[in-house]
Amino acid sequence: MRPAFDFGVKTLAQSLDSATRQALQARVRFYRDLGLTEFYRRPVDPALLASLAAEPDESESAPQSFQLLESQPESQPESQEEQPISPRRPFPNAPAIADAVPAAERAAAMQLIREELGECTRCTLHKGRNKLVFGDGSPTARLMFVGEGPGADEDSQGLPFVGKAGQLLNNMIAAMGLKREEVYIANVVKCRPPGNRVPEPEEGATCSPFLFRQIDVVRPEVLVALGATAATWLLGTRQPLAGLRGRIHRVRGTKLIVTYHPAYLLRDPRQKKEAWADLQIAMRELGLKLPAKG
Ligand code: URA
Repeated sequence: MRPAFDFGVKTLAQSLDSATRQALQARVRFYRDLGLTEFYRRPVDPALLASLAAEPDESESAPQSFQLLESQPESQPESQEEQPISPRRPFPNAPAIADAVPAAERAAAMQLIREELGECTRCTLHKGRNKLVFGDGSPTARLMFVGEGPGADEDSQGLPFVGKAGQLLNNMIAAMGLKREEVYIANVVKCRPPGNRVPEPEEGATCSPFLFRQIDVVRPEVLVALGATAATWLLGTRQPLAGLRGRIHRVRGTKLIVTYHPAYLLRDPRQKKEAWADLQIAMRELGLKLPAKG
């Protein structure tokens, strides 16, 4: 069977008003964050679609130990165009793991990767880019986070996770007892996909080797994949997020923990508790103590 986004939703979306279309896109992003990416077309009750547009976000406060932002919907993509969401395919051939770089040379090694990227035009994402978002943080970090790709705020500032999802990630890092400057943060793709859509397979395949090289330079003790796209490209296999969470994977000689994307947590704050459980696995592996309560 063909995935619905090859054909069905696009046709359907053309007949929807923009509020309904946005609600539908938000719902699809929600499923995508859960790792559900293939949909099949059934007759749709127009009244049900209209009710999606009016549906409020569900909000529940985070556990005490994990003080995150209260629920704020992520800014909608500026584009009103239909954004077909393509199925993600595994990255078939990650580059061989590079030799370890001595800690004192990692900043320079990272700079070399940045210079090699240059004003990248390797894939079509560069056409809509304001700023390339390379990465941020310490090249000697023990902990590294990987997201999907820059959003509007990141695209304008040239830094990863600086919008609402970034504020939540900062709070998650602080809840772990760390400072943002102590970790390293990067994305699967370095240029903003139009309308914040999922990177296409060829975009991820073109850009992710640079991410792998960044990982090899940092050599974090623990990598955290934020959401299904990061997990897919790091693991080289597409699986529902639910089946990947709660255990330690191995990627490029590093422990990998998979958790929800902060943007998903903004849309469904009930899952913050689950995300905190995932981060505690990372903390345990890093030998970090839980911050004192109060
Ligand atoms: N979402 C991501 O996946 N990465 C960012 O840098 C910002 C939002």
